[in-house]
Amino acid sequence: MLRQVAEGVLVHESEFCQSNAVVVQGQGGVLLIDAGVLGDELACLANDLSDSGQTVVAGFSTHPHWDHLLWHPSLGAAPRYGTASCAATARDRLSGGVDAVAKAVGIPEGVPLDLLGLITGLPAETTRIPWDGPRVRIIEHQAHAPGHAALLIGERGVLVAGDMLSDVLIPMLDLNGTVDPIEDYLAALRLLEGVAGDVDVFVPGHGSVGGADEVRARIDQDRGYLHSLRDGRALSDPRVGPSAKDGWEWVAGVHERQLQRLA
Ligand SMILES: [Zn+2]
Repeated sequence: MLRQVAEGVLVHESEFCQSNAVVVQGQGGVLLIDAGVLGDELACLANDLSDSGQTVVAGFSTHPHWDHLLWHPSLGAAPRYGTASCAATARDRLSGGVDAVAKAVGIPEGVPLDLLGLITGLPAETTRIPWDGPRVRIIEHQAHAPGHAALLIGERGVLVAGDMLSDVLIPMLDLNGTVDPIEDYLAALRLLEGVAGDVDVFVPGHGSVGGADEVRARIDQDRGYLHSLRDGRALSDPRVGPSAKDGWEWVAGVHERQLQRLA
């Protein structure tokens, strides 16, 4: 079900890891960001859109992780974009075939894989998504995954954060892609902080949508996590341990793995 979070901006939340797909209404149709995960949900979203007379005219993937690279035939054949680095990484990781990736990362049943990762990289340094609708600024950085982009829809006051600023997931570092993953993540948080004053609503890739009053708190929470990881301090983060939300107990394991890798 689509829920409006700002004028002309709607969110569809998945059963899978509370993933958020974002629909932005434009002149001749909608932009669909991180379309969704499960096949029946994607089909339902496509139905909801067509029932309300809206066609998908563009897609965008915030980063090259499988759960952000999916699509469904009923969404149509609009161009699907990502940053140049996102598209190159997706292509590279899928070069051995979709099935190999699905097996390696454990993609669950019910996820349609035929159109996985078929995105076009926008030329490096592109600062906005090419489409006929509200201006969507691309804020590219190197936190979490290569070519990760947050998107700012300034005239709607909406920040699409990709896999950052989550109330359920700790910062998940790109431990293989960069020399200093913690500093890269901190740099990305500074970029988000730089636009926080323009944000009325933000949508994390997974977790709860937040308002203007929460955006700085989520930035601080992510930064606090990274500082304790970097400085070897005891962790006090509500997303890890007994205070984790139901179903998110596994995040503690991610934290343990990050600790070990950075030790
Ligand atoms: Zn991700």
